Amino acid sequence: MSQACDILVVGGGAVGLSAASRLARRRAGRVVLLEKSFFGAGGSGKSAGLLFQHDGVPVAAAMARGGLRFYAHLHESLGSPPVFTRAGMVLIVRESDRAALDANLAAQREAGVDVRPIGGQELTEIDANARLAEDELAVFEADAGCVDPVQVLTGLAESARRHGADLRQGVEVQGLDVEKGKVVGVQTNEGPYTCGAVVLATGPWTPRLLKPYKTALAVEVRRTQAAFFRRPIDGGRRTVVTIDFAQGLYFRPASADGLQVGPLSAAETKEPINPDEYNEAADGDWLPGVRQRLSRRFPGLHRSYGRGGYGALQVVTPDGLPILDRLPGLDGVYGAVGFAGRSILMAPAAGEVVAELVIDGKAATLDLTPLRAARFGEGDGAKNNGLPYGTIAN
Ligand SMILES: Cc1cc2nc3c(=O)[nH]c(=O)nc-3n(C[C@H](O)[C@H](O)[C@H](O)COP(=O)(O)OP(=O)(O)OC[C@H]3O[C@@H](n4cnc5c(N)ncnc54)[C@H](O)[C@@H]3O)c2cc1C
Repeated sequence: MSQACDILVVGGGAVGLSAASRLARRRAGRVVLLEKSFFGAGGSGKSAGLLFQHDGVPVAAAMARGGLRFYAHLHESLGSPPVFTRAGMVLIVRESDRAALDANLAAQREAGVDVRPIGGQELTEIDANARLAEDELAVFEADAGCVDPVQVLTGLAESARRHGADLRQGVEVQGLDVEKGKVVGVQTNEGPYTCGAVVLATGPWTPRLLKPYKTALAVEVRRTQAAFFRRPIDGGRRTVVTIDFAQGLYFRPASADGLQVGPLSAAETKEPINPDEYNEAADGDWLPGVRQRLSRRFPGLHRSYGRGGYGALQVVTPDGLPILDRLPGLDGVYGAVGFAGRSILMAPAAGEVVAELVIDGKAATLDLTPLRAARFGEGDGAKNNGLPYGTIAN
């Protein structure tokens, strides 16, 4: 026998949980979320959790602002310890990227973001180990920081449940039931569900789920990696988040004496990636290069203790921005995918606009035109994203 609901969210990552919470809050019917494994089993549970507002695309910057605001206050509504650490962020680019950096800074200042250029001396005052080369530029964003992704997922799930969403783990959506071009339900390992709308927040599994329906989205699944180090004995304590575009790496404090390091863009591969079977360990031949680049930016940390790393998946679009839209040719199906390395950050705003799209028929809080599914076929997708600094990937 089929189970009934009004709105079905597929995927229990940050985006799906946020969407379920926002949808349930609107009280527009019964909201059920189905997660095939466990919350955060995709990219969300492995996220670095960096939160910053630096972006030259207005819609992305607005989503980032919304995310920071949301996480800074999440603990108040939950009555839990704070999830957000306002560590501040240093962003470093090459001198050749000065024009792009200036444009982004101007946009940030206009939006009221506390951000300022800093020189090498001020950088060492902020982080005693950090060094800036002569052909590099740095800025400091004071309100940026980081979250623990698992705490975020816990908070989002708690919030969704409080608003009345029914969250189910271990239930896999195996196909959509479509009648005359409109979705009427889904098939799962537990049997069918009927519903009036389906939100796909299925991360790396999205292409596979959509394959039978001729609704291809311009998304690519890529593998990325992260490395862990423990600071050396004289290596100081936790400091700021560093987004190092000159070297293509981020650095974030992890626990009191630890550091997490990873690439700013996931590696391209020739072979399609199977999200159920990929290498979850860090590549042995990748780690030494990370240590070299860590030592170049923070010479005092060259004796850090290596603690291995992990492999993980991200979903990217050609312009680095997510797709937030109803899906062409599948009436009643909405897609929220392709957030690359910023879905924890953007999940709160994404959840809100998904609720508006599904319940009101259009988004009110954001202009979603730059995030429409069809933009790549129309040529817009060729435009660069709001972080146009050349990076050395992986
Ligand atoms: C190493 C790394 C670092 C990152 N750093 C940052 C960062 O600093 N800041 C930031 O904001 N973001 C960051 N991200 C990005 C981010 O965490 C993930 O890309 C993101 O969380 C994806 O969220 P999602 O909800 O879209 O998808 P996912 O988290 O991938 O969730 C999709 C879920 O859908 C479920 N699912 C799939 N198909 C089905 C189905 N058919 N039926 C039921 N369930 C299904 C999966 O099991 C999975 O749990 C990082 C990611 C990685 C991997």
